[in-house]
Amino acid sequence: MALNEQEIQRIVRDVINGIQANTGSAQGGGQLMGIFDNVEDAIAAAKKAQKEIQPMPLEFREKIIANIRKKIMENARAFAELGVKETGMGNVGHKILKHQLVAEKTPGTEDLSTQAWSGDRGLTLVEQGPFGVIGAVTPSTNPSETVLCNTIGMLAAGNSVVFAPHPGAKNVSNMAIDLVNRACVEVGGPANLAVAVAEPSIEVSQTIFKHKDISLLVATGGPGVVTTVLSSGKRAMGAGAGNPPVLVDETANIPKAAEDIVNGCTFDNNLPCIAEKEVVAVDSIADELISCMKQTGCYYASDDEVDRLVKTVLVEKNGKRILNRKCVGRSAKVLLGMIGVEAGPDVRCIIFEGDKKHPLIDTELMMPILGIVRVKDVDEGIETAVELEHGNRHSAHMHSTNVQNLTRYGKALDTAIFVKNGPSYAALGFGGEGYPTFTICSRTGEGLTSAKTFTKSRRCVMCDALCIR
Ligand code: NAD
Repeated sequence: MALNEQEIQRIVRDVINGIQANTGSAQGGGQLMGIFDNVEDAIAAAKKAQKEIQPMPLEFREKIIANIRKKIMENARAFAELGVKETGMGNVGHKILKHQLVAEKTPGTEDLSTQAWSGDRGLTLVEQGPFGVIGAVTPSTNPSETVLCNTIGMLAAGNSVVFAPHPGAKNVSNMAIDLVNRACVEVGGPANLAVAVAEPSIEVSQTIFKHKDISLLVATGGPGVVTTVLSSGKRAMGAGAGNPPVLVDETANIPKAAEDIVNGCTFDNNLPCIAEKEVVAVDSIADELISCMKQTGCYYASDDEVDRLVKTVLVEKNGKRILNRKCVGRSAKVLLGMIGVEAGPDVRCIIFEGDKKHPLIDTELMMPILGIVRVKDVDEGIETAVELEHGNRHSAHMHSTNVQNLTRYGKALDTAIFVKNGPSYAALGFGGEGYPTFTICSRTGEGLTSAKTFTKSRRCVMCDALCIR
């Protein structure tokens, strides 16, 4: 359950005091660094900080980032606990892992590269320079994870950032901003490389979107906010919604597929946008898959229980069926409790069989409920998965040992992420190769963001010299 505002403020104070005590920071008194009352002041402070950081050596940016990484590791549990308490969503153990992943594997300045041409007419370089001050909208589902990961990448590229966190996660997001500033000041850098206001709102975000000193917008969230930033008239990157299907064909290792799917789907109670949201199973292996999923801790819901779940998980608003936010990011046990089913602590996920048009299959739920759509063969499976992904081009996964089937699926889905024979979180470098991010720009095509994403290309030309071949 989410706590009331007073309790949250008390926890924030305790955590901040803990960070200050841990780090021996000079900035005591429970004040959050980088958090302003007024958005104009916040943007002005970020602009000043960016001007200070840009001429400093890359090595110095790395020194700041190293200290950010260290502080995230020291405070991963505090962030995880506050995130769950404030939003009422997710799982503390998994959120600790997400913070550790950000600290250990988010790329820094090594991600920036230079392209060069040299010849008789001299030397030309294309280098990656900062945009300046970035405006970044962050979600309630991975709040501090996104703030910290975005900051490392944006700072590595030489930018500062004004955040517009989700109001329902403002405390944990602002605490992450405080951590970044403390880490920076402690090693001799400027304050306010990351800023926000104490009370985020749509009006504050609108000011950020229109402000002349903000040169790039990065929005991580649902379709509404992505469309808004794309209509702003500025360069914008949109990390929008997904509804990732996972297809299992008759050539897959079924027990492993079941385990991977349940592990991916239940990670942080299904909050990651990349997590498996529905299963498409070829008929000949569907019964075995369901049986293996049951052995992996899934509760198979009856038709009547599924009907009750629909009425609980989805609510009517203005004639439309939308998500009941009280169910997002809750555990399977809590969701079952909401429909009057007493489940043991070992129940990890709720599964049922349904049609591709079923509302619990068609909708991006962000909770551990997995509908299973039975299809006659892999062709129908690919077609069904394409429909369920809704053209988001975000994430899709598959379990198969047939490379032709995998290839056809990958081409048909055309998503930013395609995990084969593993849990979805392998895409974030967790049990898979590659780096993590919580901002996957599916809609605008940048894919998994990192420092290089937050740069502009600059051509630097020396005529008739510096070629020493
Ligand atoms: P949300 O869309 O409710 O909120 C996201 C952010 O947008 C918040 O900061 C919110 O305050 C802001 N916002 C929403 N409407 C706005 C508007 N009109 N103007 C200005 N700001 C606005 O999403 P959420 O529930 O916090 O997060 C879940 C959604 O985000 C899911 O759809 C999920 O798939 C998506 N998501 C995508 C990624 C990705 O990398 N592609 C990552 C995380 C979450």
